[in-house]
Amino acid sequence: MARENGIRAEIVAVGSELLGADRLDTDSLYLTGELNRRGIAVRRKHVVGDRRADLAETLREALGRADLLIVTGGLGPTEDDLTREAAAEALGVGLERSAALVERLRAYFARRGAAMPERNTKQADVLAGAESLANGWGTAPGQWLERDGRALVLLPGPPRELRPLFAEQVAPRLESWLRRRLGREPEPIVMVRLGIADMGESAVDEIAAPIYSAFDGIETTILAARPGEIELHLRAPASEEPRLHALRERLQAALGLAVYTSQGLALEAVVGEQLRRAGQTLAVAESCTGGLLGARLTAAAGASCFFQGGVISYSNDAKQALLGVAPETLARHGAVSGAAAGEMAQGARRALATDWALAITGIAGPGGGSEAKPVGTVFIGLAGGAKVEVVERRLVGERERIRQWSTTIALDRLRRALAGAAAA
Ligand code: ATP
Ligand code: MG
Repeated sequence: MARENGIRAEIVAVGSELLGADRLDTDSLYLTGELNRRGIAVRRKHVVGDRRADLAETLREALGRADLLIVTGGLGPTEDDLTREAAAEALGVGLERSAALVERLRAYFARRGAAMPERNTKQADVLAGAESLANGWGTAPGQWLERDGRALVLLPGPPRELRPLFAEQVAPRLESWLRRRLGREPEPIVMVRLGIADMGESAVDEIAAPIYSAFDGIETTILAARPGEIELHLRAPASEEPRLHALRERLQAALGLAVYTSQGLALEAVVGEQLRRAGQTLAVAESCTGGLLGARLTAAAGASCFFQGGVISYSNDAKQALLGVAPETLARHGAVSGAAAGEMAQGARRALATDWALAITGIAGPGGGSEAKPVGTVFIGLAGGAKVEVVERRLVGERERIRQWSTTIALDRLRRALAGAAAA
């Protein structure tokens, strides 16, 4: 996050469903990102069910500590939407029904050809002294209240309403409030994201930590982004931008080819760009990933200029009939083997007449493992030029993780080969 400016924020997510077994509060993740970018630290987060007494107590305590309190959810029209009432109670202020808001709500329903249910009028209740925040994406308006230099914000729970409402209505108020609180312009934050493939988190940190710990005032975080991919985030106030780039260069030099982007690109986009630049084409042959690699390669528009297509060869018959994998190879080494991966890649390359082909065969689990080839054993084949390269990996995790991870390793093999070819 940005260099902290001493402002303490808390977030309260309201909704009994968020205390159940199958819903997570994601609003606070989004909000935390927005606050951190402005140098505001989130000191506590709370999840509270739809009970007025619980909510009022949580709000009272949080209002006693925080400079900024953001509450999400519970602004609907139903009995269990109690955020307005609980906030009024915690603050010791009244609620005032806004005639203008009632009219807005009526108009919202009228545009949809419906009469407004009577119970929706309570959505027009505003905390005394608060500003109402127009919600163009739903019925629940937000609220902004400043008292004694502190700010309280009420926002609707549904993420597709909360996010645009925050961007349009809250962000400008927040920035103006922050300027007044700090007595200066908040410094903009710059961020660089390094994407690193096929290297573990601790291996990355072993190389990176001695470098970034020498750069005071630049916040560095390492996170496991997707299976097989690590991200290094570097953030600093704009005045530190030259040092931030110096740090980035040192890290890139030390991590070498493992860094696939410093521009926030996805791995598949980097590979696509390499192929486009080289004017070369790619085919895939997938067994345990069942098309995931092809899906990643085609996720962004424009893949047709380098991606020819692929074969989902799940069974042995398909590997033989469509890719020409030799029956002896399958009999001697098995479908999950380096030999099979190599022949699959060659077969796909031959069938689609491409410069490169990637093949994946492995055991994604949960069943099918053996002592010699446990669940997570994956072979990646890469055919190109006169060569076929095969790597074996033992991945850990659940089926979906192993499948995703395999596609990352495959993309990364090709990326490294293309980078090597371009450097040569
Ligand atoms: P509103 O303030 O708009 O009335 P609400 O809490 O009354 O919100 P609900 O009907 O309870 O709205 O929830 C609407 C949807 O928004 C549900 O799918 C709910 O899971 C989702 N939602 C509510 N709060 C959050 C949150 N903090 N993070 C992610 N999703 C949320
Ligand atoms: Mg709710």
